[in-house]
Amino acid sequence: MAVDSTLPSPLGAPACDKDAKALQFIEEMTKYVESVQERVLSEILSRNAETEYLKRFQLNGATDRETFKSKIPVVTYEDLQPEIQRIASGDQSPILSAHPISEFLTSSGTSAGERKLMPTIHEELDRRQLLYSLLMPVMNLYVPGLDKGKGLYFLFVKAETKTPGGLVARPVLTSYYNSDHFKTRPYDAFNVYTSPNEAILCVDSFQSMYTQMLCGLIMREEVLRVGAVFASGLLRAIRFLQINWKQLARDIATGSLNRKVTDASIRECMSKILKPNLELAELIIKECSGEKWERIITRIWPNTKYLDVIVTGAMAQYIPTLEFYSGGLPMACTMYASSECYFGLNLKPMCKPSEVSYTIMPNMAYFEFLPHKSATSGLSRDSPPRLVDLADLEVGKEYELIITTYAGLCRYRVGDILQVTGFHNAAPQFRFIRRKNVLLSIESDKTDEPELQKAIENASVLLKDFNTSVVEYTSYADTKQIPGHYVIYWELLVKDSANAPTDEVLNQCCLQMEASLNTVYRQSRVADNSIGPLEIRVVKNGTFEELMDYAISRGASINQYKVPRCVSFTPIMELLDSRVVSKHFSPALPHWTPERRH
Ligand code: AMP
Repeated sequence: MAVDSTLPSPLGAPACDKDAKALQFIEEMTKYVESVQERVLSEILSRNAETEYLKRFQLNGATDRETFKSKIPVVTYEDLQPEIQRIASGDQSPILSAHPISEFLTSSGTSAGERKLMPTIHEELDRRQLLYSLLMPVMNLYVPGLDKGKGLYFLFVKAETKTPGGLVARPVLTSYYNSDHFKTRPYDAFNVYTSPNEAILCVDSFQSMYTQMLCGLIMREEVLRVGAVFASGLLRAIRFLQINWKQLARDIATGSLNRKVTDASIRECMSKILKPNLELAELIIKECSGEKWERIITRIWPNTKYLDVIVTGAMAQYIPTLEFYSGGLPMACTMYASSECYFGLNLKPMCKPSEVSYTIMPNMAYFEFLPHKSATSGLSRDSPPRLVDLADLEVGKEYELIITTYAGLCRYRVGDILQVTGFHNAAPQFRFIRRKNVLLSIESDKTDEPELQKAIENASVLLKDFNTSVVEYTSYADTKQIPGHYVIYWELLVKDSANAPTDEVLNQCCLQMEASLNTVYRQSRVADNSIGPLEIRVVKNGTFEELMDYAISRGASINQYKVPRCVSFTPIMELLDSRVVSKHFSPALPHWTPERRH
């Protein structure tokens, strides 16, 4: 689409020529949602016309919406498992996509305890990069002068694996940071990071974090924004500073790099950055040695204008802690994306977290929406769901996001529930409501109810010898301390009090639960150290009945009352905590390796 960069953008005054083009692009995309979506669908369907998947549904080369909607089913990851397994095993025929599958992206969503594998194609990198390229032009409308300094971003890659057929499987950000799009990006004064690529690309999370923090400290006065992808990542960095500031200050005082950082490329690049600086070392010691860590971000990085972290969705639980550490700096949630597809951006990135709305960019994929409360609209269970197009959504309503991507996912349920808050031009804007079926989440882990139930069943096997069973349970994601951890409240039925389960056994129950949880949880525990040991709090007999009484006193129906399997409401937490008789923690790390089990 032709772009006239001389036009002033309705979004605001662009900071430079490049920004003008980006803002104009956003205007074009959001004005012509309908035609862009039609073009995207037709492009996807025509290029993939000969794929096994589209042929199976007898699309016969049709590229129009009506035929597509009438013939192609709405699917979940589980429905696509057979196709995905074949691709993973090395079948290179055009199954889902006419373009060769370049790699698998491992999403943080899981299926049967393993990360979901999302097939992707090389050109998707261009689409991701395009969305990234729109973020700073929008930010520059609100925060001037970001070209005068740097961004301290804590960015990480994770371990990669290979599928049996030889394709690489790794998280989408690991793929992006390892691509030439990122590694050899041209210099852009508005996008200069303190972290060298060598540090970002180091798979050892300690060495990577240590170096990134060290660089951030060395360049403290140049830092204008501090960020990570999600809020939990930034808090992990602060926790890291709490634990490692002495050594970091020593490195800065002496100009020599901690010997624990062994990566040769990091050592090489740090030899140019790290010089003895006693004054800076003293400042770090002064700020970090105090008891109080309030406003630590602004004390160490005094020129920070905002935090760049996602605090919508599950991450909202970290807002108070980030406010504490940053003295209330604005938190910018800039984009909304997933392994399957990057969706869109926040056109008002400096708004309050509670007001964040993302604008889906219609060029990224073909988007449809399943009205979320379809059960109440009289649809029978097996009548096909009526999906609504991007241009036809209604303000205030909630929808589940369904995508059709260039990489070959057709009418795929992402699992996110979004609410329409308004429009920018013809493009709807969305508040992220929640991810379906997620009970507990500390960072990228997502534990659902059946998984928690299974973990409890596995752990309670250890109680059998003690003639003891778990009669009720609930859970809580405790993020007051970093790293956060899962807390599981158990009410036990001990049949023989002379032979009650010992502390040691209950500790083992914690570990057994962890061993039963999904791979994302265990990776966070073992490789990233971003989730702390799971805790079981045994409560007095009768506690769950009190919980029910409390719910009923607040208007719950006795007939319909179900024990909530996850709690976060303060009075309920207080009630539970006041009835705790013993606390137990996982004594070891659960088993985890990067390899998939199947
Ligand atoms: P993954 O599949 O691991 O790439 O995770 C993608 C998921 O993370 C999305 O489907 C959302 O549930 C969540 N997510 C991504 N961006 C945001 C955001 N800006 N706000 C809230 N949740 C988000």
